[in-house]
Amino acid sequence: MPLSPHAPPCPPAPTDTTACVVHVAVHTPVHSGVGGLLSYTAPHSLPPGTLVRVPLGTRELLGVVWDKPEQTETLAPEQLKPVRSVLEGLAPLSPSWRRLVAFAAQYYQRSLGEIALTGLPPALKDMTAEQLARRLAPPKTKKLSKKAQATLAAEMAAQAEADATLLTPTFAENSIALSAEQQSVCTQMDQHPGPFLLFGATGSGKTEVYLQRVQQALEADPQAQALVMVPEINLTPQLLERFTARFAPLFGPQAVVSMHSGMTNPQRLKSWLAAHSAQARVLLGTRMAVFASLPGLKVVVVDEEHDPSYKQQEGARYSARDLALWRGRAQGAQVILGSATPSLESWHASEPETDGGPGRYLRLHMPSRIGAAELPRVRLVDMRQQPRRTVFSPALLGAITERVQRGEQALVLLNRRGFAPVLFCADCSWKSDCPHCSAHQVFHKGDRTLRCHHCGFTQRVPHACPECGNPDILPLGKGTEQLEEELARLLRNVQRPDGAPARVGRIDADTTRLKGALEQQLEQVHSGEIDVLVGTQMVAKGHDFRRITLVAAVQPDGALFSSDFRAPERLFCLLMQAAGRAGRDGSYVANQGSRPEMWVQTHDPEHAVFQSLRSHDYPRFAGQQLRERQDAGMPPFAFQALVRADAKTQETAQAFLRAASEAAQQGQLPHLDAVFLFPPIPMAMQRVADVERAQMLIEATDRRALQRFLHAWQPWLHWLRSQPAHKGLVRWLVDVDPQSL
Ligand code: ADP
Ligand code: ZN
Ligand code: ZN
Repeated sequence: MPLSPHAPPCPPAPTDTTACVVHVAVHTPVHSGVGGLLSYTAPHSLPPGTLVRVPLGTRELLGVVWDKPEQTETLAPEQLKPVRSVLEGLAPLSPSWRRLVAFAAQYYQRSLGEIALTGLPPALKDMTAEQLARRLAPPKTKKLSKKAQATLAAEMAAQAEADATLLTPTFAENSIALSAEQQSVCTQMDQHPGPFLLFGATGSGKTEVYLQRVQQALEADPQAQALVMVPEINLTPQLLERFTARFAPLFGPQAVVSMHSGMTNPQRLKSWLAAHSAQARVLLGTRMAVFASLPGLKVVVVDEEHDPSYKQQEGARYSARDLALWRGRAQGAQVILGSATPSLESWHASEPETDGGPGRYLRLHMPSRIGAAELPRVRLVDMRQQPRRTVFSPALLGAITERVQRGEQALVLLNRRGFAPVLFCADCSWKSDCPHCSAHQVFHKGDRTLRCHHCGFTQRVPHACPECGNPDILPLGKGTEQLEEELARLLRNVQRPDGAPARVGRIDADTTRLKGALEQQLEQVHSGEIDVLVGTQMVAKGHDFRRITLVAAVQPDGALFSSDFRAPERLFCLLMQAAGRAGRDGSYVANQGSRPEMWVQTHDPEHAVFQSLRSHDYPRFAGQQLRERQDAGMPPFAFQALVRADAKTQETAQAFLRAASEAAQQGQLPHLDAVFLFPPIPMAMQRVADVERAQMLIEATDRRALQRFLHAWQPWLHWLRSQPAHKGLVRWLVDVDPQSL
């Protein structure tokens, strides 16, 4: 259309206005449908990665300036709200960090903003630009009085002296001579880019290999950084101590920082800033650390890579191990996965190409323990030959007694806390069911409560059966609390070499609720105050106990009845890890004239799990499990995702999933023929806190097909959720590569 002669003149060419539109990733409510980037104006152009505070509705949120999206919105700058403030003083987050976030968002089917903000320390979210500026400013040097100056100087001198004495022995430790196996592994790591699966027996010196690799990288490049991940926050203090002792003398006292959920927000911020500014050279942390900003990343270690806690189970359900591999490749960092019992996924991925395997990781083996330490002998007790209700077979009790009398320690493992999993009335069959969940309330004797371990609902223990008034209600089954009590009774006449009576202790989530309690209780084990330790899986992993020579799993069979196909793998790992706590100090064992043992009481001693455990034969176990998985078309030979729906009624939850399935068919989503949608079913834990839960499994043999299908499906799920027919839905979520079914 020709311009009319009366048309107003064109506005000035939008030279710098376009430069001032910024696209910002913010964490909008999870399923609001506003998943993408939001646009704002800024007084001057801001590089991607800059942190800003922006208005959204009535709130002000932290956001990250993002790269310009391919399809830009058409809103004119005057229709956009301005950025409220810019968090100056912080270097923008790097392109590699943004790529990691973008990949994770796409792979795990979440919004960019959610993942970006998950990766930032919570303290940043509530900080104004001024507060951050103050936080980043160097501390004001106040004029000190002469006297104060003298005191300060004296304190610093004393501190330096203390540091020196503290650090001297670690210099000696630096010159540790590697074992032949460690040496061979390190040489191979020099020659290959990785990723590596370091398959090393418990106590074979994997941690020492990590230390060597990290040290080498940090020495080679003054900008280099390392990320070291551990599965549990309980394991961070011990490892932090080892890394700090090794690296503080070499790279300074601030070189090693940690990051985990047990830290306060200001502490986490401090570590995050240290990593982001490259002041910290080593970041040691749990799964959340995988998103830390590490501009100089050169080495990534994932210790105990098989551990399920690398999978985030709330919000964005990412696998920190898998992201670590992706990040290492993208950022050019060497990745080392370590385990004595690798996940079957990693074991399969490291199957050499020469054997017809994928050969994606290089598998490196360290079969021997350091020094003279040998792996414990495994003794299986056939509980079918024992009188019913036997908790400790006489043979096991005898073996524990002997150890205590020789001054050694024993660890008794039971993966169930509380006194008894349920209370029961023999007259009317009443059970202590949780009114809000499809679970029993657990009897805790210490504070005489019934507690639901799923929703937390707690009641006083009733004096009589609430149904029929029978005063004789009975605990059914055993928990750690009861085991501790029973062991103390059984060992009451047993004496240690020093004549003191045997002492039994317990470590589980109940005894370690208070801050510092776990450290204190572990110290009691290390110092020898406790002779027999009863505990849950919490004590089975990682700890470097020096005087434990016997470990016993008293009731491990329950895990074999689980419907989850990963249950045998989990049990095998747990038992191998537990066995790894026995006889770690070879010279101690030899001096004692003792031999380390792992006892297992079972009703099914022929089971593959126990038979492979007996010969410490992980490869045999893994091979057998992988053949089963391949025959059944299960991971790692197939890829899975779960869609879960929560609602007031099971019917509402399943109806949503059925509708989602129908929408996929009708919408003719891409790769529909390559994915298999199972019918919706109630979850194994069907009801939690009065919410009914249902799930639907989606499976494909091609990961990319599954990814594309899920991506195309997302908008349908959001749309369905907004329909009146599904008003009763509480929430829905997608779990890619679920770790439990
Ligand atoms: P893992 O991580 O495989 O369980 P660690 O690295 O903790 O094993 O090593 C087990 C024990 O052996 C530790 O006490 C460690 O200090 C010690 N150790 C490791 N490597 C050596 C070595 N080359 N020489 C002497 N002691 C070592
Ligand atoms: Zn009753
Ligand atoms: Zn409950």
